[in-house]
Amino acid sequence: MGTKAGVVEGWVSNAKSLGRVAFLEVIDDLNLSPITVVVKKDQVDPETWTTATRVKLGSAVRVEGVFPEVVVSRKGREIQASRITVLSETLEIPPIDLTGKTPASFDLYIDYRYLALRLPRFRAVFIARSKLMGFTREFFAKQGFLEVNTPKIVGAGAEGGATLFTVDYFERKAYLSQSPQLYKQMLMCGVPRVFEIAPYFRAEKFSTPRHLNESWGLDVEMAFIDSEEDVMRILEDFVRGAIRYLRSQMGETLREVGFELLEEPANIPKVTYSEALDTLGKLGFSLQWGDDLDTQAEKALGEHLQNQGYPIYFITKYPWDAKPFYIMRENDKLSRSFDLDIRGIEVASGGQREHRYTELLKNLKAKGLNPEEFSFYTQAFKYGMPPHGGFGLGLDRLLMTMLGLSNIREVVLFPRDRFRLVP
Ligand code: ATP
Ligand code: MG
Repeated sequence: MGTKAGVVEGWVSNAKSLGRVAFLEVIDDLNLSPITVVVKKDQVDPETWTTATRVKLGSAVRVEGVFPEVVVSRKGREIQASRITVLSETLEIPPIDLTGKTPASFDLYIDYRYLALRLPRFRAVFIARSKLMGFTREFFAKQGFLEVNTPKIVGAGAEGGATLFTVDYFERKAYLSQSPQLYKQMLMCGVPRVFEIAPYFRAEKFSTPRHLNESWGLDVEMAFIDSEEDVMRILEDFVRGAIRYLRSQMGETLREVGFELLEEPANIPKVTYSEALDTLGKLGFSLQWGDDLDTQAEKALGEHLQNQGYPIYFITKYPWDAKPFYIMRENDKLSRSFDLDIRGIEVASGGQREHRYTELLKNLKAKGLNPEEFSFYTQAFKYGMPPHGGFGLGLDRLLMTMLGLSNIREVVLFPRDRFRLVP
């Protein structure tokens, strides 16, 4: 017979017995849906039969048996058990329905993330996340970027100090890093291309579906550029590549569990800040030149461009006043900056940096910052700092928008927000 002996280890999500045959569903490996375990009373020892008919839902088991050549189970995978061992029995009824039939609340799926991970939809999200991380590393390594790890306990913030978490650091006060910005720039005086996958800690009292107090970012910095256009090119290749990769690896699977994966656009258009204001004016917004594009404006612009067939776009050349001190000026008013938005949500910010020492000091002062507090950073600009630029991209936001989800908490295992520090 065309059968193969094997072992399945996992958690029982469902069980039923019909006289002399019992069926268990076991969630195993990283498979999206459970495997059906078929147990025939007259083909197993009495202990295994007792287990098959009495096992508590949620328990961890090991199943020994054979994989039949012809699978009857609708779910497509099946093992005929010869022996079942309970490795760890559930002590309480799981607070989440492991068959997935009765949905739980949004918060319960976070409180019991490990149990949610037994359900196809949650597995799919976090498998996609793991694949996105893998793709990111491979993409930048292939393009000749050095993967780096910069400190997360720091003595000064990237853009001032208002939004940092403080840490007791022996006799001093330190902060949790809100971004690798200053470090990745300093590195441009030693190596030409770096990237880092790192947590951002931000202490604002956010209450939006797209902000967390701890989020994961992709930081990229590259030297010897001609302008921010060089940076935008890499970012565009990366985002398009990530979409293509995820679609090819998991498109079908994601569709099965209800996600509509973002499509790879033929190109990512560039809209200047001024053009965005014009468009928003036509859409009924009364924004002055220099105003921030608030959430409503971002959303309206996103919908407008989506309707034109552009779910992903750059907004370029922001007023310098709206951007951090390290961004290079284009002229008196404008900066060499860009954001990348997906369907009205900012996913990345970047630009060309000011690499000229004296200009940098001027910019710090113009933003009301004290250059002395940044001397550890500015001194790197004294030793042949090349023209450079880069971006910071929210990986949580990228995944969220790629999967068409509306809350960032859905793509983070244990989200940190103002009200959630546990688990
Ligand atoms: P926003 O305006 O949306 O608050 P930002 O401009 O303050 O973001 P940047 O400093 O540009 O954020 O950080 C780079 C990227 O990191 C952002 O484009 C976003 O994708 C992500 N990011 C920043 N802050 C958060 C946060 N609190 N939660 C989740 N992602 C974030
Ligand atoms: Mg930004």
